[in-house]
Amino acid sequence: MSTSLTQPKVGIVSLGCPKALVDSERIITRLRAEGYQIAPDYKGADLVLVNTCGFLDSARDESLDAIGEAINENGRVIVTGCLGAEASVITTRHPSVLAVTGPHQYEQVMDAVHTHLPAPDHPFVSLVPESGYRLTPRHYAYLKISEGCNNRCSFCIIPSMRGDLVSRRIDAVLREAEQLVKAGVKELLVISQDTSAYGLDVKYAPYKWRDKERQTRFRDLCEGLGELAKESGVWTRLHYVYPYPHVDDVMPMMADGRILPYLDIPFQHSSPSVLKAMRRPANQEKTLERIRRWRAEVPELVLRSSFIVGFPGETDADFEHLLGWLKEARIDRAGCFKYENVTGAASSSLPNHVPEEVKEERWHRFMALQAELSDTRSKSLIGKTIDVLIDEIDEDGAVGRSKADAPEIDGEVFIANADGLNPGDLIKAQVTAGDQSDLWAERVR
Ligand code: SF4
Repeated sequence: MSTSLTQPKVGIVSLGCPKALVDSERIITRLRAEGYQIAPDYKGADLVLVNTCGFLDSARDESLDAIGEAINENGRVIVTGCLGAEASVITTRHPSVLAVTGPHQYEQVMDAVHTHLPAPDHPFVSLVPESGYRLTPRHYAYLKISEGCNNRCSFCIIPSMRGDLVSRRIDAVLREAEQLVKAGVKELLVISQDTSAYGLDVKYAPYKWRDKERQTRFRDLCEGLGELAKESGVWTRLHYVYPYPHVDDVMPMMADGRILPYLDIPFQHSSPSVLKAMRRPANQEKTLERIRRWRAEVPELVLRSSFIVGFPGETDADFEHLLGWLKEARIDRAGCFKYENVTGAASSSLPNHVPEEVKEERWHRFMALQAELSDTRSKSLIGKTIDVLIDEIDEDGAVGRSKADAPEIDGEVFIANADGLNPGDLIKAQVTAGDQSDLWAERVR
């Protein structure tokens, strides 16, 4: 039976961060469950859904351009996602959009689709795999544990767009993880705005999973995911964690291999005065001590972070503090952004904005130091045998990642001989060379 002639087709343009990608996956899962087809390009689509990002002004411009492109190429466009929270910005620039909905408004998105492209009479529900549709390769998946954020960092408008923290029930999250592992996922990437705050909003409400009561909290979540790791070897990578004391509880799980020895902690800065102006919730001195203890317990631990240079009021001394702290904390992987005003963010009205050329110079110095630290780390691995998860096979061999590398944001491991390898394979390889981001390795059989 051919279904493609009768199924309405929706094109999806997904912009922004992994969290937006998860929203797109959920929308696609709903569309497929109702019998819609996903069109691979503008021309084949009856309607295009643009999932936007509105965090930085540059991302807003990118989103507005993407909406314009979809209108030119297809004409029938529904907009959702972060920028959708400001409908007038979109409709002023693009009055012909069919509908605008905000972030996580799945019902409203589906209502808009139903209005402009009715669902087929006979949905092919069985076409939807139990684990839903995913936009990432088959062997890794993002696991979103909460929406929103209770912090109020002065440079960020996410809480005003996405609201306060709303945690998912722990049993629902663990069931989803279990299904993903059953469907062949080899790596789970835990994401949220503030992973270590998980459960705070629901007072750590307990639910049963696998006959055991678990609280909706960070430690119990990691324990549950650790059980899956013991049974299946699945990697669990933790993103957007803050260095609160309870993160210590996860160190034994990292030490015995249940959770990957990797923490993505968005430090943003180290200087107390800049952190105060940023309204960040951490004390960097205590953090350094904590990192030292973590490394003593889990020597393999890799820290990834993101930083902002040129924040309003950042002095030369603040910036030097940041460089010193970076060395001291030995941040293995770091992204660095030059401060940019975000419409609606409190930091825009702070005094003493840093001139662009100073931001530029600081950014280059930061990146040079970071490259040096990463290069030293890579070189120290030469001769060692590491685990590598294969992502793809190309004409030059296999491309994978070590436990220290998150997809899209960290480095890769190149393996010349790809004989018999497939994406999703987990192999051992001996490192032969390394630079500031990537490794080269030979397979150990
Ligand atoms: S922790 Fe701060 S930067 Fe992150 S989402 Fe919350 S308010 Fe924004």
